[in-house]
Amino acid sequence: MSRPQKQCIFCTNPANSKEHFWPEWMHELLPQLPDPRHNRKAYHYHPKVGTIEEGASHRPGALHTIKIRAVCATCNTGWMRNLEEAARPFLTPLIKGSLIALGVEQGTIVARWVALKCIVAEHASRDTTLTPETDRFALRDRGAIPDYFQIYLINHNIKHGIRYNRHSVGISLTGPVSNPPPWGRPKNVQSISFLLGRILVHLNASRIENYTIESRYRTFPINVWETCRLWPFVGNNMVWPRRPLLDRGGVSSVSSALEIALSGPRSRGVTTLQRARDG
Ligand SMILES: [Zn+2]
Repeated sequence: MSRPQKQCIFCTNPANSKEHFWPEWMHELLPQLPDPRHNRKAYHYHPKVGTIEEGASHRPGALHTIKIRAVCATCNTGWMRNLEEAARPFLTPLIKGSLIALGVEQGTIVARWVALKCIVAEHASRDTTLTPETDRFALRDRGAIPDYFQIYLINHNIKHGIRYNRHSVGISLTGPVSNPPPWGRPKNVQSISFLLGRILVHLNASRIENYTIESRYRTFPINVWETCRLWPFVGNNMVWPRRPLLDRGGVSSVSSALEIALSGPRSRGVTTLQRARDG
């Protein structure tokens, strides 16, 4: 018996197309390793069950060749490709670490592309998603970035790494009122981080009222939430490379922002950590 085909996350067609998370044109710009291997793990935590680990380690092949099946060929070769082509001239210098200033128009294109990538990645497994259909369709139709997305571009000095981290959680804040209401998406807070050459791309997203990752965890000594935010815009003309330059520890502390935020009081939840890295 064949498995029922999933639906494209951006329309009603079957999801019949595989999307490279790191697009093919980008591969030659990313670090090349002689005998590439990668890990792709997921850790599911439930307060009653504990942690369940799944996924493979030390799989042959470069991490940047992974593909996700969540969209249809029409979307993938249509509006998604157009957005990618529009973003490419700005992504290339960011990846290489060459100087680039992003005005509102260019920055919006890059932010849209990051939002698209994050939403596709979110739907690699359908039981940990956060962004509802109306917001996915609004990105497709109007280029609207969900208003609960905060997007950061941060420079780092890891030379050979390729990483991807997604941490998603279904949180309910403790107290007399159920916040959020006890229905809706399986997850309501997430952070996604991935390396693109010299840039760490990071997304924080919370769909709970009065809950932000940024307010619960400030990075030290420089608060990257204040200095490296691409979206919503901080300034008119943001320039990269910019400070701080994160080292390995800095990259992992930004990537773990949600984990660190969750260790504070008044929140509990069922969490999933999806982690892919070369090595
Ligand atoms: Zn589609």
